[in-house]
Amino acid sequence: QARKRFGQNFLHDPGVIERIVRSINPKPDDAIVEIGPGLGALTEEILAVNPTLQVVELDRDLIPVLRTKFFNYPEFRIHESDALKFDFSQLVQDGKPLRIVGNLPYNISTPLIFHLLEQAGVVKDMHFMLQKEVVQRLAAMPGDNNYGRLGIMAQYFCKVQPLFEVGPGAFRPAPKVDSAIVRLVPHQQLPHPAKELGLLQSVVRTAFNARRKTLRKALGGLVTAEQLQALGINDGLRPENLTLADYVTIADFLADQKSAHDDVQDVSND
Ligand code: SAM
Repeated sequence: QARKRFGQNFLHDPGVIERIVRSINPKPDDAIVEIGPGLGALTEEILAVNPTLQVVELDRDLIPVLRTKFFNYPEFRIHESDALKFDFSQLVQDGKPLRIVGNLPYNISTPLIFHLLEQAGVVKDMHFMLQKEVVQRLAAMPGDNNYGRLGIMAQYFCKVQPLFEVGPGAFRPAPKVDSAIVRLVPHQQLPHPAKELGLLQSVVRTAFNARRKTLRKALGGLVTAEQLQALGINDGLRPENLTLADYVTIADFLADQKSAHDDVQDVSND
């Protein structure tokens, strides 16, 4: 019996399962981690290639099911944990970056992706099944309807590749939404590194809290219209029109202002 509070929709269609595994392209010596294995539909196919697969599953009722089903894989490890709080870096061995996969619980997919982006430094790539709209948001570019905080922060850390769509019929029970598979590959070098990540996050969050307003209004508490103009950013635009590079420009301006302010304080403290 699938449990709603855990967002359980189990993959059922062998053709779809095979297509996902082919996209992941697991190799025997990869360090692969699956989030939310459920009854093990993807797990089974990945284990056949990579017997050291590890999984993170929150529903304790599923743990004995998984143990029984995969008893003949002695290196298979189950972490009974909440993926939202899980420190994935503890799974890294010999510095080998992780390949993270999963048909994610849709009710927590956005916070889970933010949590995983914070750990992008130990990740080689990620393949996720998500609600189709979430994949659209991850891949959205300036001006797109779905463009916002999720896409900007995902693209800050990763290359985002939508792969293919999956209809509700591939799952039991069938979800009410369409799904899609996405590949996220952390950049080796960030294309637009911010001086202070926290400032970039707060600028983007502040902007999209008022996505229908002009930048002048949306960011009024952080920068003035004149400052935006001096940075070469048209303050009459809307948050959805700015590129990632624009947001980094604003965040770096605030970082510089902050450190200038700190310097002044340092002097006065002497
Ligand atoms: N991978 C399986 C499949 O494709 O058939 C199940 C996918 S189901 C959409 C989501 C899975 O994530 C369920 O097994 C659920 O128990 C698990 N889950 C839900 N919340 C979780 C969390 N916070 N941490 C880890 N696993 C979670």
